Amino acid sequence: MFISRMVIGIIIGILSVFLGSNVVDRKEIFRGLKCYNCGDKVYNYYLKCECGKDNKFLYLISVLVAILLVNISYGLFGSTNELNIGYLFILLMVSVSVSDILDKIVPDELIIIFLTLIGFLRIFITREVWFDAYLGMLVAFTFFYVLSTVGEKLYKQEVLGGGDIKLYAIIGLVLGVKLTFLSVFFASVFGLVFGLIAQKINKETLYIPFVPFITVGAFIAYFYGDSLLEYYINLF
Ligand SMILES: [Zn+2]
Repeated sequence: MFISRMVIGIIIGILSVFLGSNVVDRKEIFRGLKCYNCGDKVYNYYLKCECGKDNKFLYLISVLVAILLVNISYGLFGSTNELNIGYLFILLMVSVSVSDILDKIVPDELIIIFLTLIGFLRIFITREVWFDAYLGMLVAFTFFYVLSTVGEKLYKQEVLGGGDIKLYAIIGLVLGVKLTFLSVFFASVFGLVFGLIAQKINKETLYIPFVPFITVGAFIAYFYGDSLLEYYINLF
């Protein structure tokens, strides 16, 4: 059992980095990984680019995160059908995190494929009442769409990328209404803390990809949201 979980984790992890690294370009999907610094393909096994940058860290961490998430999923969902959605969700979120770090983009191709797949599976595999997933999708998408439109009018600049909004539609589909908003809370807290630290270290303004924080928030809510809410309610 442990071996199969590790193998599935490694497969999902490797698939994620290849998708996240290459879907934007669509070329040579399974040949090499993109260098985070210069964008060239790195073909050697050590992931050291000709520009001198070492890409091992980014890709190794991504695969390890996928392995960790697969193991937690298995521990929580066991061999229930929800595990299938869990694995798909891990594949999606690690891919788009990598893509956001490399290209500052959430590829539409991934959104369409996973929205269709998970949207279809959610007909049969439900966590709460069956419509909670679809309601989550609609509410999350509408909420962020309105937020981004209003924010853009107020601040005269993009406050939330279109890719992030579409991604939240899928998160709504996986998590349902309540946990989606809990995940937004976690993503914001982690993003804010990291942003403040990064600004302290690096004086100039730098681009911080937000999708990795959306991912962290989504998985905390997905895995532990119900228990956390229960614990919180019992405090009073
Ligand atoms: Zn490079």
